[in-house]
Amino acid sequence: MSKVRTRFAPSPTGFMHLGGLRTALYAYLYAKANGGDFILRVEDTDQQRYVEGAVELIYSSLLESGLKYDEGPDIGGNYGPYIQSERKHIYGEYAKKLVELGGAYYCFCTKERLESLTDENGNRKYDKHCLKLPKEEVERRIANGEPYVIRQNIPTEGTSSYEDLIYGRIDVDYKELEDNILIKSDGMPTYNFANVIDDHLMGITHVIRGTEYLSSTPKYNLMYDAFGWERPVYIHLPTIMKDATRKLSKRYGDANFDDFVSKGYLKEAIINYVALLGWAPKENVEKMTLEEMVKLFSLDGISKSPSIFDEVKLRWLNGEYIRALSEDEFYQVARPFLEKSKVNGLFDLKTIAKLLHSRVEVLGEIPEKIDWLAELTPYDLALFDNKKNKTSAEVAKELLPKIRQVVEGIDEFVNDKIFATLSEKATEFGVKSGAIFWVLRIAITGQGVTPGGATEIASLLGKEETLKRIDFTLSLLG
Ligand code: GLU
Repeated sequence: MSKVRTRFAPSPTGFMHLGGLRTALYAYLYAKANGGDFILRVEDTDQQRYVEGAVELIYSSLLESGLKYDEGPDIGGNYGPYIQSERKHIYGEYAKKLVELGGAYYCFCTKERLESLTDENGNRKYDKHCLKLPKEEVERRIANGEPYVIRQNIPTEGTSSYEDLIYGRIDVDYKELEDNILIKSDGMPTYNFANVIDDHLMGITHVIRGTEYLSSTPKYNLMYDAFGWERPVYIHLPTIMKDATRKLSKRYGDANFDDFVSKGYLKEAIINYVALLGWAPKENVEKMTLEEMVKLFSLDGISKSPSIFDEVKLRWLNGEYIRALSEDEFYQVARPFLEKSKVNGLFDLKTIAKLLHSRVEVLGEIPEKIDWLAELTPYDLALFDNKKNKTSAEVAKELLPKIRQVVEGIDEFVNDKIFATLSEKATEFGVKSGAIFWVLRIAITGQGVTPGGATEIASLLGKEETLKRIDFTLSLLG
């Protein structure tokens, strides 16, 4: 059997949508699991949609997520160029050949004529008008410089079948298909044509892409057959849904790789989560490195039904990845977010990182989790209410001055010391030690939930600031 060759063929839209990333990942995994090559091809034939920097974004997103391609526009290879706009002459040549083979024809219809074909429901299907033009007329009109397109000649009757490795046998009636344009009037190919020519010339053995292409694949097969080329193996992937009714869409800009990175998801976690959108390894593991995925990947684990993008699960997985980092690694990834927070410049960021490490799922939450460290502002006194510790604002009003006195007397102001000294006072104050720590924590943070306990935070703030905050709270309590 020939070497497996898969490809990822994105259009440079300016985003790396997670759906696209999943296609790339599965194409990568399939190639690597089978000792094959993974190729990147940039499909930029729609020049009107050119977006500055979009191609570079494709390279960087793939490389950052670990999907190292064996051939591609920026690294070359034996089957280049790998960028479609540089292959224009190739498509022209093959389109001509296809016309000669009867699989395509020149069409000179004007926009007005095409519009006149629209029926009362707004649908339009090309009527093969130009298929009937005599050869001499076609040649004369081309020589006269008349604008033309090249259309695919789809049979008017019959059914086309093929076997998809995920969806099984697919039958499509030719009647449902249209004589789509293969070469536009500017000489550029459409996707419908370029994908066939490129997949063949680049030796692609397995075409892996979204289900939206499932029903247009018969058109491509007609071309493979007309040229006498072997059809590739097809693997169409289930849709990714945002919820039960809506697709996760690149148009709405939701779910782009970069957005998730900037929200504070780790690249390893994103790629791991994306792998699970439509595939479950037999062993039922969920947390996997890319190398582990290569070992476990198999097509039987790919489901036919749409998968739902679940950010809660992604968060959970991200938390797992965060906790698996060393202290220093965590500091490195957390740093940009710590620097964005109000504590920057006021506290030692490494110390804060330690406090946060086991307590964040997404790095983007860091500022909101610690901004209060920079400044205590008026807060809701109902935060003192706690059943277990039997505390309330009333209790706090009574207890806090006593706590203040103890705190003031502690010389060595470190966590253990503050903790031990305050714990000892519980009996004397006639409360559980939990009550002391609850009241103190609220009094110095104004937060219901904090990373770190009362005394840990107090030691971080220092004695002077702790006392200042206690006084501020006392003034709030009245
Ligand atoms: N350029 C197409 C897209 O972005 C690629 C489809 C394919 O993989 O054949 O959807």
